[in-house]
Amino acid sequence: MLAQLLNETLATLNKAIDQSKPDFRARETGRIIQVGGGIARIKGLSTITSEELVRFPGDVLGVAINLEPHEVGVILLGDSDKLMAGADVSATGREADTPVGEGLLGRVIDATGRVLDRGKPLNFKERRPVERPAPAIIERASVTVPLETGIKTIDALIPIGRGQRELIVGDRQTGKTSVAVDTIINQRNKNVISVYCAIGQRGTAVARVVNILRQYQALENTIVVVASDEDPPGLRYVTPYAATTMAEYFSEQGKDVLIVYDDLTRHARAYRELSLLLRRPPGREAYPGDIFYLHARLLERATHLHEKIGGGSLTALPIIETQAQDISAYIPTNLISITDGQIYLSPTLFHKGLLPAIDVGKSISRVGGKTQYPAFRDVAGDLRLSYAQFEELETFARFATRLDEETRATIEHGRRVREILKQAEHQPLRGSQQMAVLKAVNAGLFDHLELERIGDAEALIQKRILEELPELCTQMETGEKPTQAQWEQVLDVARKALAH
Ligand code: ATP
Ligand code: MG
Repeated sequence: MLAQLLNETLATLNKAIDQSKPDFRARETGRIIQVGGGIARIKGLSTITSEELVRFPGDVLGVAINLEPHEVGVILLGDSDKLMAGADVSATGREADTPVGEGLLGRVIDATGRVLDRGKPLNFKERRPVERPAPAIIERASVTVPLETGIKTIDALIPIGRGQRELIVGDRQTGKTSVAVDTIINQRNKNVISVYCAIGQRGTAVARVVNILRQYQALENTIVVVASDEDPPGLRYVTPYAATTMAEYFSEQGKDVLIVYDDLTRHARAYRELSLLLRRPPGREAYPGDIFYLHARLLERATHLHEKIGGGSLTALPIIETQAQDISAYIPTNLISITDGQIYLSPTLFHKGLLPAIDVGKSISRVGGKTQYPAFRDVAGDLRLSYAQFEELETFARFATRLDEETRATIEHGRRVREILKQAEHQPLRGSQQMAVLKAVNAGLFDHLELERIGDAEALIQKRILEELPELCTQMETGEKPTQAQWEQVLDVARKALAH
């Protein structure tokens, strides 16, 4: 009898404790024992979990990432200037999270939802965790639809598919950001939502991108998420994960989303800074050993979702900066192995004025080729190979004094292809315009033209093709391959334009 009573009392007590647990956790407080450099070490938060949000005085938030037996290492998401050792902090019982929703489109914000564009307060109904598991294999489908960049060299020779991860890699000032921004601009009428995630850049550089997006009417369909070089390393570290959560809100509704991480070199640097401050042992090339996991778990979240769960997609364009063209350094090789290909930007080409400075020989897209429209494949088919052959021949021919007629013709033709692959910034082209021009150059229509006149001639073809064959243009852009007779029509338009 007594035993039964005791048991019941115990059960009631346990239940009461269980119910009060979240409440108790939310109120657990600790004390700062050290703060500075964007991190804080806390004593007294014994029930805290990894990635839990911690509230500091002055409403500064932090994320617990280092759990040790007697203290917790917290990365700060806000300004640490006013924080002092000895101050009380409280665990929130909440994971680090970020606002999501339609209200974020067209805005410039940080990972916590702080408004950076001086606009009205952010309109959102929901917050979601910053770190979320990547979709399982069974939830994924292969890529089938192209993500058109509007850049000839990429769409024709290194095509990207929706749901793919394509690295943009190159030294500083080689046009990495421009390639990504132009791709965002090209999505404005394509029903693809974009997220531009700026990590560790100067404020002026971000403002420049925002202005360009606004100027080309691409901002309203884009979320700009920023952690500048002046923000604490903790914020720079969580920003790409938060930006991905914002992007997934749309892809999980079946929409197509593009995300740009500009750039992950600076993200890796922020993490190294935090790790060293938290006294984690450095690993290879003085980076913490888990940095591979850091980027792998971020990029694993990009995918084409299966039709059964909406069929949305998240395409990722991470950017990496190399030093002295060394793509075999630690961070670039990590990322090359995580992604489905890379677009390599060469400073040599950049200085020669061959813009965009994409080195076709060192660039590759492993899955996008399957998604390329058949009409595109028709014209781009052996362009890649013949172009590579031309480059080799040209280098070789520099040493030769006299060339036979055939070699000379091949080189002259190659030079024209190279001229055609040049493209100004922020002027993405429609697929049909690209195909018409490439068809014309393949057919040798430019071969008699001086190099200086090619730019104008090309622009005229681009204009005329849309005016004269609008239906055929739509057909080529929706995937149907033109017949021989239709290709002839395209060439006729080009010939007429060139005769002009
Ligand atoms: P950083 O390493 O500083 O981030 P980046 O590699 O992102 O540089 P961008 O800022 O995109 O390079 O471009 C560098 C410069 O080259 C810019 O002034 C840009 O306007 C110019 N540029 C890039 N692409 C082109 C192009 N296709 N045509 C003309 N100018 C270009
Ligand atoms: Mg840049």
